[in-house]
Amino acid sequence: MISGKNYIGAHLSAKGTITYRTFNPLLNIENEPLHTEASQEEVDEAVDLAASAFETYGAMSGSQKATFLNTIADEILNLDDALIQMYCSESGLPEGRAKGERGRTVGQLRSFADLITEGSWVDATIDTALPDRTPVPKPDLRKMLVPLGPVVVFGSSNFPFAFSTAGGDTAAALAAGCPVVVKSHPMHAGTSEMVASAVLRAAGKTGMPNGVFSNLNSSGTAVGVQLVGHPQVKAVGFTGSIKGGRALFNLASQREEPIPVFAEMGSINPVVALPSALKGHADDWAKKYAGSITVGAGQFCTNPGLILGIQGTDLDRFIKILGSEIETLEPNCMLHPNIHENYEKGKSELSGQHGVTVAASYDAEVAANHARQKILTVDGPGFLKNPRLHQEVFGPFSIVVRCADLDELTMIINNLEGQLTGTILGSTDEIRANQKVGTALQNRVGRIIFNGVPTGVEVCPAMQHGGPYPASTDSRFTAVGTHSIKRWVRPFSYQNWPQELLPDELKDGNPMKISRLVNNALSNDPI
Ligand code: NAP
Repeated sequence: MISGKNYIGAHLSAKGTITYRTFNPLLNIENEPLHTEASQEEVDEAVDLAASAFETYGAMSGSQKATFLNTIADEILNLDDALIQMYCSESGLPEGRAKGERGRTVGQLRSFADLITEGSWVDATIDTALPDRTPVPKPDLRKMLVPLGPVVVFGSSNFPFAFSTAGGDTAAALAAGCPVVVKSHPMHAGTSEMVASAVLRAAGKTGMPNGVFSNLNSSGTAVGVQLVGHPQVKAVGFTGSIKGGRALFNLASQREEPIPVFAEMGSINPVVALPSALKGHADDWAKKYAGSITVGAGQFCTNPGLILGIQGTDLDRFIKILGSEIETLEPNCMLHPNIHENYEKGKSELSGQHGVTVAASYDAEVAANHARQKILTVDGPGFLKNPRLHQEVFGPFSIVVRCADLDELTMIINNLEGQLTGTILGSTDEIRANQKVGTALQNRVGRIIFNGVPTGVEVCPAMQHGGPYPASTDSRFTAVGTHSIKRWVRPFSYQNWPQELLPDELKDGNPMKISRLVNNALSNDPI
């Protein structure tokens, strides 16, 4: 069923000489299929094909592209249990998670299909001519968003469906009108090939140009580096480590024609536990946070890696209950031995830092690749002066900082790097009385949560998943929700352009009945 080959458009190809296997972390053995890394020639072929597909795909109507996206969703579901089993064998994640993530992926594809069928997302803006204006006449100007061109998507390790082959980045780019070349994550090459086959079956059924989608295997950095440097590639989507995302961002900006890299990277997602939250509720919050820290073996970009509280008996109680929960929960399997090794390394490095004490540690024997959770504590000054403690440990791990007071807590927030999320636990009155805490957090994060946990990212238009660097490379955009389409487009104006040559979105008659800004007023009417 798995060929191990690359999809160069609809064509399976394996011209390279480097081969590799994926790994089943639960069984601690390699999976059988052998995958062939894309050769330099195949990378060029995939991008050249994407560039030629862009000539037709970039001009297709929203409803044509929507049919393609909905058919991809159908074809993914048609792969049924075989795809779920492949996902589980390459990630160690349970079947329930696989099915949930598949539902999310299919839902994302369908929500982009709805968005582009309706059509108003192109931000059509029309300023009609004033030929009699003095001293100079005003021209007719009409602006809308148009696709950038071929996009490269790097599959993530921690979301083999939702942030990979036909995940959010790909769905958004295809919806925008951009052909996609996926660099599949080496840990999920089989899952990626199966999902790619679904995308390409959908492309065939709906009459999309060959090259609208390709899927390349790689087991090292060479394929990604070549893709990002390719002159026909116009943008990059990435989910992974700060090191990887930053390397690709640097490469893209050093090109003769620099291109945007939308990288969603590391985050420790600070949580502020105000005194009112812990007074009488320390046990509840501790239990909720034990769950949030350990869910999915902590392999979520929104994992709460830092909890800030004010020292005292309530915080002591919170730490005690958090610790006892953490030591009771069964450790989960991580995605890959390398991720597990990085986790163990990061955990032990941070545990050995000056002033840090271990609040809880699961120390019993576990099966291979299972992540033993750990909680550290440190005081405010100890945290402030040690930037190593501010860095993400990807896994079920968190640091609780015992701050002397709210001034110290605010200073810590002000000294953090950019984050995806921030959370405040407390009463409305206490938050209002300490606005500087909320303001400091707002300046550091992309999403702020009231009395909850940061794990769990709803897919909807109002979601912001991205934050100041290094949470992401461009905090003006989101990687989740339909607004993520804005990463793959640019504004484009027509001046004095004849009606019959304008795209439907900008014609006087407004045949698509979309919402437009016409002479500074929002309208769905014809002009
Ligand atoms: P990664 O090392 O950043 O790799 C992600 C993808 O980027 C891989 O396909 C990798 O290719 C490619 N890549 C990395 N560095 C590159 C470079 N210099 N040039 C070209 N391509 C490059 O992340 P990962 O393998 O998914 O996981 C490793 C660590 O990343 C985790 O332990 C975790 O710390 C972090 N991570 C964070 C998040 C988050 O949401 N915060 C999510 C996932 C992972 P190759 O593998 O083929 O080399």
